[in-house]
Amino acid sequence: MADFKVTELDDSVDFGNLKYWDVVIIGAGPAGLAAGLTTAHRGLTTLIIEAKDKPGGQPQFLYADKRIVDIPGFPDGITGEELSERVYRQAVNALVQFRFREELTEIQDTEETEKEDALKRVVTSKGEYLCRKVIIACGLLHYPRKLPALDALNSKKVYYKIPKIGDYQDLRVAVVGGGDSALDAAVMVLHRHGQVDLIVRRDHVRGKADTLTRVKADGGIMHTSCEITAADFVGGEIALTLTDGSTHNYDLVIVQIGFLSAKETFQRLDLRLSDDGSIAIDPYFETSRRGVFAVGDVHGDIKLIAVAWAEGIQAAIYAFKEITSPFWLNEKRLRDQKIAMIGDKISQAAGR
Ligand SMILES: Cc1cc2nc3c(=O)[nH]c(=O)nc-3n(C[C@H](O)[C@H](O)[C@H](O)COP(=O)(O)OP(=O)(O)OC[C@H]3O[C@@H](n4cnc5c(N)ncnc54)[C@H](O)[C@@H]3O)c2cc1C
Repeated sequence: MADFKVTELDDSVDFGNLKYWDVVIIGAGPAGLAAGLTTAHRGLTTLIIEAKDKPGGQPQFLYADKRIVDIPGFPDGITGEELSERVYRQAVNALVQFRFREELTEIQDTEETEKEDALKRVVTSKGEYLCRKVIIACGLLHYPRKLPALDALNSKKVYYKIPKIGDYQDLRVAVVGGGDSALDAAVMVLHRHGQVDLIVRRDHVRGKADTLTRVKADGGIMHTSCEITAADFVGGEIALTLTDGSTHNYDLVIVQIGFLSAKETFQRLDLRLSDDGSIAIDPYFETSRRGVFAVGDVHGDIKLIAVAWAEGIQAAIYAFKEITSPFWLNEKRLRDQKIAMIGDKISQAAGR
């Protein structure tokens, strides 16, 4: 069957009384939504479990108002919020089922089988779900790196994501961090007539050179080799003291200094990890546990929406192939090995 053929789920399916789900996906970010859409479009009962109260992942929660310009097919760009809503609507139309405000805790093996497939039990903060395949697409959203000095203020004026436009328009803003996310935040504030001080721990900015040029051209002030040594309230403002001894007052602070590794959670899932603490996968996005796939920001170096979509779609198709033809992946791996061995022999013969 061609991989692009859509087989819609029958809308008479009683999702409340399934013996098991074909696929359970963890996370409703770009990777999880794309995976869910793809499995549902192949007639598989699909459940997405999402810790937050809405779908979308980072584009929805970290940069809802940013105009994303690197998604093919959107020449005028699209905001994180609109993109998330569009993909979510598509998934709902395909009869993907969702559970929000529910968090993955464990994936258990069971004795139960379905067509030679050992069923898994996905345990969450609210329930348990039997399923044939699991796709982990939980990104990094839960773990923004925090700054203790700012955290101690316990203030709504300290953001670990990019605020909504109305929250920073015309204001004086400190952006902490020197990567692409920090530069993006600075550009957005400057474009809304805000003033920006960029506070960077290193002696240089790591983000894209052209974005840095825009920040400087739009009046952003750079404080490199600088850290925040103290933070306090002065009137309605936040006063930050920097390592050079200077103190500056801001209406709000945006912290974009990366994410903590989700290593602990991944270890609890009993998955083999790569050296950098991300989930190790094989070329088919399968983890060290059979039938458990991992896609998107939970592994790998290229953290982009289009890459998360593509990986979600690929893992979904591999899960589909395994469900419709058990051991399909094992047979494919054996074929791959044989082809590699033949390739080696040909190279050796040619070298002789
Ligand atoms: C500031 C910023 C700007 C960016 N700009 C761009 C851009 O312009 N273009 C681009 O292509 N990419 C951009 N990116 C990167 C892009 O957003 C990510 O690569 C993409 O969101 C990864 O998708 P994902 O589905 O793997 O993970 P996420 O988007 O992180 O989604 C994961 C989802 O899983 C949920 N989850 C986490 N843990 C659990 C759990 N235990 N149980 C249940 N649910 C859970 C989370 O709540 C979240 O909704 C940007 C990133 C940042 C931070």
